[in-house]
Amino acid sequence: MYDVVIIGGGPAGLTAGIYAARARLKTLLIERAMVGGLAATTEFIENYPGFSEPISGPELASRMEEQARRFGLEFLYAHAEAVQKDGPNFLVTTEEGQVAGRALIIATGAHPQKLNVKGEDLFYGRGVSYCATCDGAFFKDKRVAVVGGGDAAIEEAIFLTKFAQQVYVIHRRDQLRATKVIQERARQNPRITFIWNSVVEEILGQEAVSGVRLKDVRTGELKELNVSGVFVYIGYRPNSSLVKDLVNLDEQGYIITDAHMQTSCPGIFAAGDVRQKPLRQVVTAVADGAIAAFSAEKYLEG
Ligand code: NAP
Repeated sequence: MYDVVIIGGGPAGLTAGIYAARARLKTLLIERAMVGGLAATTEFIENYPGFSEPISGPELASRMEEQARRFGLEFLYAHAEAVQKDGPNFLVTTEEGQVAGRALIIATGAHPQKLNVKGEDLFYGRGVSYCATCDGAFFKDKRVAVVGGGDAAIEEAIFLTKFAQQVYVIHRRDQLRATKVIQERARQNPRITFIWNSVVEEILGQEAVSGVRLKDVRTGELKELNVSGVFVYIGYRPNSSLVKDLVNLDEQGYIITDAHMQTSCPGIFAAGDVRQKPLRQVVTAVADGAIAAFSAEKYLEG
């Protein structure tokens, strides 16, 4: 029986772990893959205070993990399959067996939103990717498309210019959503071409991606663009299905919490990208994690 079980080892979960372990609560963090969450798939993080030079996502994550271990946080690398209430406690079923906790912190993050167009699933891993840091190097001297106009799309488009000969940013409007400083960098990059007011209708290819069919949303005109890779960055969806029957979610599936990270179910707290909030960044995730652990401590003290 743990005092606190944290599900998810991104910045929110790791920070909750640091705070809970320092509060001398017996705490377990369950992570299904590697720690760091989405932040660990980012090459450089340059807006996390304290690092005047950019730090790589994996490096920041591994430092957080080390810090948490130093205070005695336990880790279980397994997929959490189900969560149920068991009297005042919670049972988490994983492929490694069940663990019980008196309080639960859900820090399961979010997953990339799919385009839901023909060819996307077929060519996943054969030109379609949701992670430029993971797959960018496969596109050396090739032409690639990035879909989206937010921070993620534009940052990753810049990153891809390290490898690709030409990066086409396909955006459904004629204005980017991304932070101004990131926009400026992209606009100055000769390897980036913007294709405005356009959406991907289909991803084309035989064995692997050979192009995309685009539709101009103003005129309806269709055209084909030859690319070997399509990187999709059109936002994220919350990984909240584990607790969907236990806590209140908003219409998009984000967990609703109060300012104490308390969900609608006493004893269950949520932190990070899985939570309904206005800004999803490492800096807000770690703040959520700290508050969730502090609130769990108060909850356990009754
Ligand atoms: P986002 O900010 O929600 O942007 C999603 C982009 O995809 C928008 O430009 C949107 O177009 C477009 N889009 C959405 N659905 C689409 C569809 N079906 N077809 C075509 N385009 C579509 O998502 P994000 O860029 O992934 O960022 C998520 C969060 O992480 C944000 O809070 C962001 O600030 C943060 N983040 C921050 C950094 C950083 O600070 N360096 C880096 C990465 C991510 P519209 O603009 O027309 O809505």
